[in-house]
Amino acid sequence: MTTPLLEVKQLKKYFPQLGGVTGRKVLSEVKAVDGVSFTVNRGETLGIVGESGCGKSTMGRTILKLLEPTSGEIFFDGNDITNLSPKEMIKYRKDMQIIFQDPFASLNPRMKVFQIIEEPLINFGVKDKESRKRRVIEVAEQVGLTQAQLNRLPHEFSGGQRQRIGIARALISKPKFIIADEPVSALDVSIQSQVLNLMRDLQKEYDLTYLFISHDLSVIKHFCDRIGVMYLGKMVELTDKNSLYTNPLHPYAQSLLSSLPKSHPDEKKERIVLTGDVPSPSNPPTGCTFHPRCFSCMEVCKNVEPAFIEVEKDHFTSCHLYPNSAELQNKSIEKESVVHV
Ligand code: SF4
Repeated sequence: MTTPLLEVKQLKKYFPQLGGVTGRKVLSEVKAVDGVSFTVNRGETLGIVGESGCGKSTMGRTILKLLEPTSGEIFFDGNDITNLSPKEMIKYRKDMQIIFQDPFASLNPRMKVFQIIEEPLINFGVKDKESRKRRVIEVAEQVGLTQAQLNRLPHEFSGGQRQRIGIARALISKPKFIIADEPVSALDVSIQSQVLNLMRDLQKEYDLTYLFISHDLSVIKHFCDRIGVMYLGKMVELTDKNSLYTNPLHPYAQSLLSSLPKSHPDEKKERIVLTGDVPSPSNPPTGCTFHPRCFSCMEVCKNVEPAFIEVEKDHFTSCHLYPNSAELQNKSIEKESVVHV
């Protein structure tokens, strides 16, 4: 069996909230990413979906070590990169790139497009100017930019074109892995499919592996092979696209999917409207963090955190409703009872 390109184990990213007289006392911690584990196989697209604020973007940045993980492990191409310094990460940066949500904010407004796309090559030590130029022109053509456009500034482009520039910059070093963080959510619907089709063509051409972050279930469905659903910093369901859309197991995933339009007028579908707000990640609820909003909440859910387990083949979830979790669930309850006696 080939090793996955990316493996994340129990990844946590907490942000301390400082205060007190000195302003240095840790008053609480925002648990933006709270013990997430998954793998991404070579050549696949793993989608990560969830409401804004669920920690998906923070998780993406932590995997790329743009943010330092609080704990957990990150393996890329079989190498443990969890504790590498920024200097040690340079050799992996070439292979691990990111496409940002807001193309305009991520492009330096004073740099010409040529320089923007070329810059990573300079950072990675490509000294030969001519070979850099050839590569910029090559990748610009692949994303649908003309040579004349390379001499312009970012503000002269539309949103879709700016995203093409962002994609070209990410691709310039021929990476193996790209995290696409809401890459089309700032674009008009008509432009979204053009950019997604481009990303799919480039995936074939470069043999790319994507981690595709989005809050938009329709986009995720269109683009991804497997999908992970996040809620309040945790992964609550992970499976292939068909299993998730035909048989979501976790009540949160069920509620998200119920908001999708019917695929056929005869389809029977009831919209599940969640009550209450998303709790604060600095003070998450006990037990299952979804329990205050869950329409299937049981007594056990309020105190015992459900394990993230394989309920069906390659279909993982963390919910006390599922029989396969009963054993673990009972063990946890016994443990709880012992503590409370
Ligand atoms: Fe709902 Fe309980 Fe499952 Fe959490 S563990 S999703 S509260 S049924």
